[in-house]
Amino acid sequence: MKVAAVIAAGGRGRRMNSTLSKQFLRLRGRPILYYTLNTFESLQEIEEIILVVGPSDMDYAQREVLQPYRFRKVKLVEGGKERQDSVYNGLRSCSPQTDIVVIHDGVRPFVTKKIILASIEAAKKYRAVGVGVPVKDTIKVVDGGFILNTPDRSTLWAIQTPQTFEYSLILRAHEEARKAGFYGTDDTVLVERLGFPVRMIEGAYENIKITTPEDMLVAEAFLNMGYGDFKR
Ligand code: C5P
Repeated sequence: MKVAAVIAAGGRGRRMNSTLSKQFLRLRGRPILYYTLNTFESLQEIEEIILVVGPSDMDYAQREVLQPYRFRKVKLVEGGKERQDSVYNGLRSCSPQTDIVVIHDGVRPFVTKKIILASIEAAKKYRAVGVGVPVKDTIKVVDGGFILNTPDRSTLWAIQTPQTFEYSLILRAHEEARKAGFYGTDDTVLVERLGFPVRMIEGAYENIKITTPEDMLVAEAFLNMGYGDFKR
């Protein structure tokens, strides 16, 4: 069974108010991507890692991430305009023999090996798997400044990555979405719209997506608490 990973790191990070893309910002002197890639690199089960970065970040990623930390399994690929375009480029760059692909956001460095492996195991059985956590807040649907309705909290989960799929299924889902001009903010939605069941498994609240400046403070605190799985 050949398992590949696609790490989406092709965003510009506009919400971070920084000229450097957020995936390259440093935690304890090392780029965020270093931590994420290390966790994947050290998993025996994963044979290749496709790192997708924006066209203007290709040289930087090579110089500041791939060369200094000597990742053996990582191949660099150019991203696209939206996250979905970047993931699609990554999927097309996987070896054609790939059976299962783990798609993960580069800016989620606190993912653990246990979560990644659980998602791979579930994908072998269910073909499409999302990792997420039950929401802690009550969520409202709001339109024009007024509450439209209040979905039952016990059914609501916040989706994270990894999202793990049978390779041929997610490639087909991406191709169908492109044909229809459909853009989603994650990958499971592309499988959902084909009417295919997606298994949900529980991730961890600390598997945060580093998005805004205050997330960097949380990430520093998590590092101090020993969270994450990136020691090689
Ligand atoms: O924009 P968002 O926070 O949803 O981004 C999630 C992940 O997708 C980030 O790791 C980001 O770098 C990546 N991304 C990408 N290509 C884009 C936009 C975002 O790979 N064009």
